[in-house]
Amino acid sequence: MKIKILHLYPDLLNLYGDKGNIECMRKRLTWRGIDAQVQAYTCDDTGFDLSDVDIVFIGGGSDREQKIVCHRLLEHKDALKSYVEDGGTLVAVCGGYQLLGKYYKLEDETIEGLNILDIYTEQGKKRLISNIILKPDFIEGEIVGFENHGGRTYIGSHSPLGKVVYGYGNDGKSGAEGVVYKNVVATYLHGPLLPKNPKLCDYILTNAIKRKAPDFEGLKPLKDELENTANDYIVNRFKK
Ligand code: GLN
Repeated sequence: MKIKILHLYPDLLNLYGDKGNIECMRKRLTWRGIDAQVQAYTCDDTGFDLSDVDIVFIGGGSDREQKIVCHRLLEHKDALKSYVEDGGTLVAVCGGYQLLGKYYKLEDETIEGLNILDIYTEQGKKRLISNIILKPDFIEGEIVGFENHGGRTYIGSHSPLGKVVYGYGNDGKSGAEGVVYKNVVATYLHGPLLPKNPKLCDYILTNAIKRKAPDFEGLKPLKDELENTANDYIVNRFKK
């Protein structure tokens, strides 16, 4: 079996090394003997085909870069929406998360989103910058990471990725962070999200493999000693 990962706009959306998430997915597949192919889709490319793609990843960036990407991705709005509705796996971080919604409202303009999720984002006065800990209800333990966003995202009736234990989350008030919808995981958590959260990474990989091979019995466990130590360290440092 081969899993194909499409990395959208690594040239524009790669804040805090979001790209490391691609490497983490690739490694955790190959460690289990599953082939992984990564394809980058950059600003210079003219079109992509999702028919043989198993995982789409989109990272975060500044408002300026996000605007360019949003504008370009509108062209692929229907293809991406059908992919998601059909159970395609999509991982979106920060700016990438915001652009899955209806819009991102800035002080002097509103950026149209892909309308894949029934959510919207509005820029607030202060940036929400913090280490962050979440309690998800679909995997064991805590998800840890780092957030830095001016936007406040309102997720309506969508399920969050987790409840905020420490940090700000979607809007700094609701106690919710991110969205899980079908096989979409969308979150404000930047940087090495998946290396520090191996259970989340395996949840994402399992969803992608099951769509391709419905009889798949599950990923072989890995040792994850270092990964779990990194996760525990953050939990113990910040959790009250
Ligand atoms: N530009 C968006 C915001 O500030 C996202 C930033 C990011 O990806 N860190 O809300």
